[in-house]
Amino acid sequence: MTRKIIAGNWKMNLVHKDAINLISKISDFCESETLNGIEVVIAPTFLDLVEANKITNGKKLNIAAQDCNDQEVGAYTGEVSTEMLKAIDNQIVIIGHSERREYYGDTDEFVNSKLKRVLKTGLIPILCVGESLADRKAGNQEKVVASQLEGALKGLEADDLADLTIAYEPVWAIGTGETASPQQAQDMHQFIRTYLNTNYNAIVSEETSILYGGSVKPDNAKELFSQPDIDGGLIGGASLKYDDFTQLIKIGVEVLR
Ligand code: PEP
Repeated sequence: MTRKIIAGNWKMNLVHKDAINLISKISDFCESETLNGIEVVIAPTFLDLVEANKITNGKKLNIAAQDCNDQEVGAYTGEVSTEMLKAIDNQIVIIGHSERREYYGDTDEFVNSKLKRVLKTGLIPILCVGESLADRKAGNQEKVVASQLEGALKGLEADDLADLTIAYEPVWAIGTGETASPQQAQDMHQFIRTYLNTNYNAIVSEETSILYGGSVKPDNAKELFSQPDIDGGLIGGASLKYDDFTQLIKIGVEVLR
């Protein structure tokens, strides 16, 4: 059984006051709804994490960091460690987002090092993978995703992966308004599950949540979330709008199984 998750990645949006207001509203929504085991996550900027984790403490809404450093402590200007996240009771960390890979040079090796640090600290990683438009056009999407998985998971054993969540986010669908068709998304999610079965074991394959990300909106979510190997969504733009995000949560509650 996989965990079913609706997660919002706020990227570099919303000043502190607005972020906290929206988190409070989404948290109130989650408290008032029957979520049927669906986990709801918001990843605001580092600046918001202390307060966001405080106001959601003991509530249904979970808070995630958008990234972390791979080192335990030390002279790494501008960085935030997993120990710092743990100390403020922040349990979830997104790593390997395509924007980190594309704009800030996060390589598979660096993502692997971050993933190991996250797991060592006892936090829960959401590992992002996904091919570019050129890769998709060349028919290389499975090759690319397999190589990202191989790079990110290098040196880890099946037992290490109990808390792993993967987000499949085709780069060509992120923030572009283009979405993978439900079948394209399902095919890749199935491919990832098979990869986990082949390289680890059936338990990892059956219990790793695989989220889809890439222009998920209320009008396309139902079909995407109904696919057998899609366990929820990692949502950018639509998670910044209260009405859209709460609608996505409702759709998740209705169709994610
Ligand atoms: C994302 O950045 O993780 C994402 C999926 O963004 P959007 O929903 O805006 O495409």
